[in-house]
Amino acid sequence: EAHAKLTAPGAPFEIEEKVIRGVTTRTWKNAPPTLRDVFLNGMRFKDREFLVYEGDRATFDSFGRATLTLAHQLIADGVKKGDRVAVIMRNLPEWPVAFWAGQLVGAIVTPLNAWWTGAELEYGLADSGTKVAIVDDERLGRIAEFLGKLPDLQKVYVTRHAGPELPATVHRVEDVIGTVNSWSGLPELALPDVPLEPEDDATILYTSGTTGRPKGALGTHRNMTSNIGAGGISAARNFLRAGEPLPELDATKLPQRCTLLVVPMFHATGLSATIGPTLNSGGKLVLMRRWDAEPAMKLIQDEKVSSTGGVPTIAWQLIEHPARSKYDLSSLMAVTYGGAPSAPELVRRISETFPGSQPGNGWGMTETTATFTSHMGKDYENRPESAGPAAPVGEMQIRDPADGKTVLATNAVGELWVKGPQVVKLYWNKPEATAETFQDGWLRTGDLARIDEEGFLFIIDRAKDMLIRGGENIYCVEVENVLYDHPDVMDAAIVGIPHKTLGEEPGAVVHLKPGGTADEAELRQFVRERLAAFKVPVKVAFWPETLPRNANGKILKTELKKVFAEG
Ligand code: AMP
Repeated sequence: EAHAKLTAPGAPFEIEEKVIRGVTTRTWKNAPPTLRDVFLNGMRFKDREFLVYEGDRATFDSFGRATLTLAHQLIADGVKKGDRVAVIMRNLPEWPVAFWAGQLVGAIVTPLNAWWTGAELEYGLADSGTKVAIVDDERLGRIAEFLGKLPDLQKVYVTRHAGPELPATVHRVEDVIGTVNSWSGLPELALPDVPLEPEDDATILYTSGTTGRPKGALGTHRNMTSNIGAGGISAARNFLRAGEPLPELDATKLPQRCTLLVVPMFHATGLSATIGPTLNSGGKLVLMRRWDAEPAMKLIQDEKVSSTGGVPTIAWQLIEHPARSKYDLSSLMAVTYGGAPSAPELVRRISETFPGSQPGNGWGMTETTATFTSHMGKDYENRPESAGPAAPVGEMQIRDPADGKTVLATNAVGELWVKGPQVVKLYWNKPEATAETFQDGWLRTGDLARIDEEGFLFIIDRAKDMLIRGGENIYCVEVENVLYDHPDVMDAAIVGIPHKTLGEEPGAVVHLKPGGTADEAELRQFVRERLAAFKVPVKVAFWPETLPRNANGKILKTELKKVFAEG
């Protein structure tokens, strides 16, 4: 039995059943109780390299000093347990410092999407009731104009600010902790004295939804540490040959792994990759200013990167790059991805292209604190259409989408429901959406799927009206609502246009009001001014009449997609 094998003596985590928020749930028996324990674990790696970004290098020790220094500053600023601290920046070394400083003082850390427009960021800050925001220079530029309008926001810290002038409420991160390469000279401060429990709230991660505005998924310390536990198990399982017993994993005695992080830290996947492989397992993190395949290959070579990926798009771009053979990529042991459907062909192409490395795929959601199912190597090659089995603590059911209750048989296609200690608590401030999605400890995923005899998950389609562009979710209704705001638009629908490496791109089908004159360029500009660039339709097609609908009034998007398929 698969679970028994994973809980063999010596396995890093054993499974037990616990009642969490009134529901009996499987958990990792000896997973770290809170993120503070994970931080303390990371401090054992002392002078190992923790993070590399362009000319900046930090060890676990220097990162720890910077984090504790910032944590004490947050306490001096009056941040109390449960207050929201927002992190809004691209993947910079200061990102994990801000995240962990917030965790150590018991704040609910709220990473916001760095690609959002000013208006979207204003919504996120207001919705979360953020008290302190830690941002980079570019994001400060976007939020500066409405800082005075947010009653809860008391202080803003900016990192890497280029100019001399700052508004009175904005302070420099560097005035508190200095620049990355000077962190090692900071004093080693004591941990803040804040009581933390596994069920305490730790994060709000924003995810869009069928109602249009993004929803904050409120996660606990246990959610996050359980996800790390799942990652640890998967890693152990993946790097061992079948039948081999799991070793006692003392990461301080194992060779250091290195992750090239090319997905954003503000997403659940990127966040768990900055926590598990580093502070939990002692690995190094390499960051890039922005994703670009050739510089990425140079980094893989120079930093001896052992694992990269994130979303299928990234893997495709590495495989198809004309200059790939110029670089020594033999350090790669794993190219893994999830978050979006992937072509079965990708598995084979990874095995062929990077012979020393294993392809891996996983399924998860923001609401499951990232990866919930995963598999690698031979398991994956044998089932290239699958996203793998659930982590041992996770339970999955396929239910009839019509009633949301009847559990369907093996291999039947229906809606996927999942349960486990990784599933977040609720949507912040959204009782209705919470009641719809979280029921008796189970999470309704909105994905259509089947599960085979051996528990492998196959994602078939989506029940929710969403498309995924290179790993970024686009909820159609959010873009459609913006189009409906345009005075010339009568009817609008967003559909996916297939794209080889990005998976899908958004296309708009629009029916104009009589006399309406808006053209493609104008409508795209209208959306661009209001939503993040990745949500802007790449094409707009005009439909001569009202959009086709079924009896329930639902737009028949399959019909509309054909407009783009034909050219
Ligand atoms: P997010 O909350 O942004 O992480 O998006 C979660 C959604 O991405 C899921 O509900 C799926 O629709 C999709 N997704 C995640 N992983 C996979 C996968 N391995 N295969 C297909 N779709 C996926």
